Amino acid sequence: MDDWFEVVTVAQDVHAILEPRHFEQMISYLIVGEEAAVLLDTGMGIGNIRALVEEMTDKPIAVVNSHYHWDHIGDNHRFGRIAIHAAEARLLEREAPEELLQEAMRPENFWGPAPPDFDPASYRITPSKAEQMLVEGDVLRLGGRRLLVLHTPGHSPGSISLLSEEEGFLFTGDTVYEGPLYVQFEDSDLITYCNSMKRLADLAPHLRLVLPSHNRTPLEPEILMEVAEGFSRIVAGEARCRRVESPWGLLRRYEFERFSVLLPVA
Ligand SMILES: [Zn+2]
Repeated sequence: MDDWFEVVTVAQDVHAILEPRHFEQMISYLIVGEEAAVLLDTGMGIGNIRALVEEMTDKPIAVVNSHYHWDHIGDNHRFGRIAIHAAEARLLEREAPEELLQEAMRPENFWGPAPPDFDPASYRITPSKAEQMLVEGDVLRLGGRRLLVLHTPGHSPGSISLLSEEEGFLFTGDTVYEGPLYVQFEDSDLITYCNSMKRLADLAPHLRLVLPSHNRTPLEPEILMEVAEGFSRIVAGEARCRRVESPWGLLRRYEFERFSVLLPVA
């Protein structure tokens, strides 16, 4: 087993699987019930996450993708059972944009050695196929643990969050994390994102942990109010922005205390 991944147990039978040697600071989660397990996202595909999670549980593992972006689906191809929101199922079957993958493979984006059998020059995301299409309100039953699917679009059209109501855990995908939140893509939408955030902020009083897909985990539920407030201020025209150069061209960046928001130049 290579040590590309770092596993942090954030609650009983909930394991964050980090990729601390790449600047993306991607986090997948293995959520284990009495009968089945969900792997929320499959990482960047640099290390073999299937080999890792099969050592961590003997329960059958189904993959759920928070959304279709390449850094969340890198090892999908190693799994048979994949679920994603219906709006993005077809997007798993496409090639990931080569410029973004090349950018990610630049040596300065690695904060430590890659696994010995990994070759950055031939890095690509192998397309995969969804077995199950998720929609708002679906319930994933793991035995003694249930995950409710919330459709929280904005970052992408089919972004989902997973809620364990009984335990007060919310897995937010790329909708909420500390750091730059991406709303600059062609299929991102600011107003939709703002509405998703209002909805998530309303859950905060009932939550114990927010479990994001990048950077630090777990987060306190207050982050949901902070991000919702930030988006409301942007939509209301009350937030100031700077223009910044990025791999996606010139963008607007709105800075807040723990996060920023990237949008296309209007
Ligand atoms: Zn991501």
